[in-house]
Amino acid sequence: MSTESANINLAPCADCGGTGWELVEGKGVRPCRCKRAVRGDLLLQQSRIPTRFALCTFENFNPHCMSLSRALMTSKKFVDEYPIVDVGLLYLGSCGVGKTHLAVSVLRELIRKGIPGLFYDFRDLLKEIQDSYNPNTRNSELKILSPVFEAEVLVLDELGASKPTEWVQETMTHIINKRYNERKITIFTSNYLDITLGSAYDETLTDRVGVRLRSRLHEMCRLVPMEADDYREMIKNRRGGRFTS
Ligand SMILES: [Zn+2]
Repeated sequence: MSTESANINLAPCADCGGTGWELVEGKGVRPCRCKRAVRGDLLLQQSRIPTRFALCTFENFNPHCMSLSRALMTSKKFVDEYPIVDVGLLYLGSCGVGKTHLAVSVLRELIRKGIPGLFYDFRDLLKEIQDSYNPNTRNSELKILSPVFEAEVLVLDELGASKPTEWVQETMTHIINKRYNERKITIFTSNYLDITLGSAYDETLTDRVGVRLRSRLHEMCRLVPMEADDYREMIKNRRGGRFTS
């Protein structure tokens, strides 16, 4: 059944008998633990998850209010159901609420299942593309973008954080449309919300990415709003001139 068993001459894995596949009741087959462990390590090294998020997992995410509990549940469900999912995830919420933590946790869990994935901070990606225009660098735009286009799962962190110049707008549209057309799963995070909640948010996601891209994101992602309980309180206090943090 598998060509891999030919490479394992001694003691085939007890779980799969060396085939590399294990049967999951009611779900079909998945790569065996023995195969996933080796592949998982390699994929994790290649995933570009930044060091400061390297330890983010579902277990150490603190869902201290309803909105965050729901976001955690949605994320876990997404991992469980993958690859039987039609759309990716779009985490929206204010700074420090744990959007990147959850996005990275999803990516790590998928990698553990043997699914290749890539993490990119959108600002870093744009910077790398811009740098590639410099004739002295050896990287071409295509060389940078091909893994972004081809990754089975892509996390794009901090969508809308870059000043939306015409070039940024075009590049974002290019990347997002390409993944949309290829029906690839993308997970986004953004500090910009769909609606304005008060003076702290003068701009919405639509202001930052444009109407067309916003509606494309709706098509290709499930929205995961994240709002800490103390958020409204914080806004209220700010308006009253009292600052809490
Ligand atoms: Zn095995």
